[in-house]
Amino acid sequence: MSLKSNNFETQAIRTQTEKTQFLEHSTPMYMTSGFVFEDSEEMRAAFAEEKDRNLYSRFSNPNTTEFVDKICKLEGAEDGYAFATGMAAVFSTFAALLNAGDHIVSARSVFGSTHSLFTKYLPKWNIETSYFKVNEVNTIESLIQSNTKIIYAESPTNPGVDVLDLEALGTIAKKHNLLLVIDNCFATPYLQNPIKFGADLVIHSATKLIDGQGRVLGGVTVGKKELIREIYLFSRNTGPALSPFNAWVLSKSLETLSVRADRHCENALKLAEFLEVHPKVNWVKYPFLKSHPQYEVAKKQMKLGGNIVAFEVTNGVEGGKTFFDSIQMCSLSANLGDTRTIVTHPASTTHSKLATEDKLSVGITDGMVRCSVGLEHIDDIIADIEQALEKI
Ligand SMILES: *Cc1c(COP(=O)(O)O)cnc(C)c1O
Repeated sequence: MSLKSNNFETQAIRTQTEKTQFLEHSTPMYMTSGFVFEDSEEMRAAFAEEKDRNLYSRFSNPNTTEFVDKICKLEGAEDGYAFATGMAAVFSTFAALLNAGDHIVSARSVFGSTHSLFTKYLPKWNIETSYFKVNEVNTIESLIQSNTKIIYAESPTNPGVDVLDLEALGTIAKKHNLLLVIDNCFATPYLQNPIKFGADLVIHSATKLIDGQGRVLGGVTVGKKELIREIYLFSRNTGPALSPFNAWVLSKSLETLSVRADRHCENALKLAEFLEVHPKVNWVKYPFLKSHPQYEVAKKQMKLGGNIVAFEVTNGVEGGKTFFDSIQMCSLSANLGDTRTIVTHPASTTHSKLATEDKLSVGITDGMVRCSVGLEHIDDIIADIEQALEKI
């Protein structure tokens, strides 16, 4: 790109793999597992990393490199590595940077599989996690031990849509010389850049709003060069790499992220405002509603409120069941960030493995609905949800 621009929209479109012999305007797909060498010396130099070039698609590929380059630009990061899924990014980041006996301090509300990682798998390597409540960032310092290495959080959280003060987290991490790792999936790089607030690494499930059309899985970790180097070496040996095809899809998706996100967020705010005054709704949580407990923090660190609205229908389990069985247009699905509006019941699906008290501690009640607001006309989204609420 000859014109240097710091604008999100331009960088998301104009960060491209270098032109090939055919001068394709749109980056082609490089569906190849390996790359060839002219002679033995070139091959030796490549393996010795004396030259920056592609070798084998488990290590790098022009499509994954383009995708990572874009995310780095959009997040203000030095380097990154792309993974087959968001969970591969989360796991590989921990596995690459932690040693047996290390300790993590994490927000209690995290994605269901990340919670399983903390409670079931990392303890196999004697890596334990202590938790703080999202609204009690001031308790973090009391949880820090001599073996603590990482402070971990999502913001906004899945599924409770709580917001964490990233600047406060950055300050604590810096003071105690700990790594701050933020799962920025719900916000996308368009709404929020955690590195600005002191994060060392940012993780995305690209499966969600980055793809935005419910087609492919993907993940990425970006941040400080020396940390990414460790993550890269771990991943190049253990194999969680993103496929070139998915990287190509995700790189294209980024070109339209800003326009999609604008509409997603506009629709979500309108739905949240509708739900807030509906008699069959006990409560609504959306970062850009004034009633959100962390509204001021959300306004400070996010460009817009995101596309996830959490709410609780009246009449508990029965109310929830009636609501979901009455939905006509919206999809009953576990994914989020799609063009299609999706309603999910976290208590019986994504977070069903949590014990009841753990569910309640992260705000998941039996009547709670997580709505990923899509790009259909807002009148149709509201009409569907309204008629389902009326059946309760
Ligand atoms: C979906 C999700 C993940 C996991 O991503 P996958 O691509 O499904 O593996 C991680 N964190 C958050 C916040 C998510 O919503």
